[in-house]
Amino acid sequence: MVSPTQRLYFEDARLVVFDAHIVERRVYEGHPAVVLDRSAFYPESGGQPADSGTINDIPVVHVTTEGAVVLHVLESPIEGDTAHGKIDKALRYDHTQQHTGQHVLSAVLLDQAEAQTVSFHMSRDVSTIDVDRIPVSPEAWDAVDAVLRRVVEDDLAISVYEVSIEHADTIGLRRIPDRSGLLRIVDIEGLDRTACGGTHCRRTGELRTIQLLSRTPRRVHGGLYRIPFVCGRRALDDYTRRIAYMEALSTQLDTGLEDIPGLIQKLRENLRQTEKRLSDQEEELLRMEAHRLVTEACQTGSGTVLTAMFPERNADTIKKLARLSVEHSPRIALFVCGTSEMVFVRDEGLSAPHLGELMRTATAMVGGRGGGRPHMASGGVPDTAAAHKALAWAKEQITAEAHGTP
Ligand SMILES: [Zn+2]
Repeated sequence: MVSPTQRLYFEDARLVVFDAHIVERRVYEGHPAVVLDRSAFYPESGGQPADSGTINDIPVVHVTTEGAVVLHVLESPIEGDTAHGKIDKALRYDHTQQHTGQHVLSAVLLDQAEAQTVSFHMSRDVSTIDVDRIPVSPEAWDAVDAVLRRVVEDDLAISVYEVSIEHADTIGLRRIPDRSGLLRIVDIEGLDRTACGGTHCRRTGELRTIQLLSRTPRRVHGGLYRIPFVCGRRALDDYTRRIAYMEALSTQLDTGLEDIPGLIQKLRENLRQTEKRLSDQEEELLRMEAHRLVTEACQTGSGTVLTAMFPERNADTIKKLARLSVEHSPRIALFVCGTSEMVFVRDEGLSAPHLGELMRTATAMVGGRGGGRPHMASGGVPDTAAAHKALAWAKEQITAEAHGTP
């Protein structure tokens, strides 16, 4: 049985180069993996991702735990008994900043808004905490931001020590963990005490800033609120990115940053009015077209059944045109739009025929499909020739029925 791995990051979160002995070789999801007697590599846990780096110049692709040992998953097998570990320093420090920022943020939200942190997640660009409540007003959010700024400026000391679980409730932990034995306490001077096994900064000044990225967090499972935030270098990079977005917006809209929201609101209102005007005018044009169709049909003696094909028009427009053509008159419109879409409409005042059934039979006859309600139906057929055939047949049925022919 292999002894528990001595975790060097517990004593020093800044240690990124170390030497150790390989005590066991294993296979993890098809990759070679090693157990060391001591390691500074942080295994994925508690919302903090695993470190990356190398052992004897072989890339470490994942770090996880199996029982009490840390498993280093490697890109290729490793020779010999000794290990020289090198951890990606920038990535580790980034994780450390986000993780420490989370402790501060959770403590401040608890104090300012009685919000309990339920979980923490760190992804590549942004970190999130899920909390059970959020500040209730813009002023309350301002107060949270003000305290976050002050905690960073005050450069509070962060210390780590161990206490037994029996004494946990005497030192005022933010959350009492459900486990036995010794607890590793992360203590932010005068602000927060939490049991945690992650990597942490030595002082809050190292965070440089804790920036909330939303004041209207989305709701997630269990009615919780997911608050996104960034700390340290990430926050500064995020700030730079946002400046680029805002400058692009400002150039596009040809206005100052502070005028953008008002301008967008105005543009949206203009667009809404323009769309309304266009739609009114389109309806007017369709009415005129419907009137022309009816007049032409009357002149050719087929005034009650209108048939027409509109190869260049879309179904929505043709449905509207069909409705307007039969409005308040005992007529039926049998239209084709595009090359293969069919629309049948009759005025609701007419009691027959059932256009849904007529459509179903007419389209089925030519290898298509369709159906609908008694006064309105739609369908599709393979091509223009089929559409012609289905249309002619449907018209014949209506005419025959009107003349009482079986
Ligand atoms: Zn922690």
